[in-house]
Amino acid sequence: MQDVVAAPPQPRVPVQGTGVPAGSSFPVHRIYCVGRNFADHAREMGAAAPASRAERGVPTFFLKPSDSIVIDGAVRYPRGTRDLHHEVELVVALGRDAPRGSFSADEAMSLVYGYAVGLDLTRRDLQAAAKAKSLPWDTGKSFEHAAPISAIVPAGEIGDVYARTLTLRVNGTVRQQGPLSDLIWNIADILQELSELYDLRAGDLVFMGTPAGVGPLQPGDAFEATLDDAIVLRGSILPAR
Ligand code: MG
Repeated sequence: MQDVVAAPPQPRVPVQGTGVPAGSSFPVHRIYCVGRNFADHAREMGAAAPASRAERGVPTFFLKPSDSIVIDGAVRYPRGTRDLHHEVELVVALGRDAPRGSFSADEAMSLVYGYAVGLDLTRRDLQAAAKAKSLPWDTGKSFEHAAPISAIVPAGEIGDVYARTLTLRVNGTVRQQGPLSDLIWNIADILQELSELYDLRAGDLVFMGTPAGVGPLQPGDAFEATLDDAIVLRGSILPAR
């Protein structure tokens, strides 16, 4: 077969770690995102937070296009919005295809290649308008530069990820901070739930949901998202074009 248009570039995320050869990268297949995975953020968005694991129901999922990742921190303020919001999130990078059928929590964790920190950027005004009409969120969540992401660090270098804390600073001020022990659905839960709906594959990224404190970003803002001192994502918001 012969392509009739130029093939789009394969989105890739750099991989960094002590045992990782320089120049290593992670080719991105799909980007899955989890909604309302911290109780304090669910409440700030006006949703009920589950009182216990038994009451948590099923997670909310949405996707972003793989070419919405930004790996150099240079985020162009998107068109079509006057209310771009930050949501700092742990990103799980899958190194293996998920098996078909149910699998254990240990098997789920064995799918994980590594972790990154990302921003689930959101055109909040468009998302709110869609929610008010019970319409899909796509225009609020999926757009150019919607998913800035740090380098991926192999899981073995992060240790117990649930002992770590996500932080987002904007212009030096802490805007969001949340311990990953507060996740309503942990990584194994999310991979099991996603696999009921999709064929999870090596190259998939999963944005795990954001803690409270989401808010607006303006052109000129500088952001720094961290997982303790283990992973850092630095960038800034460029003027709209
Ligand atoms: Mg989010």
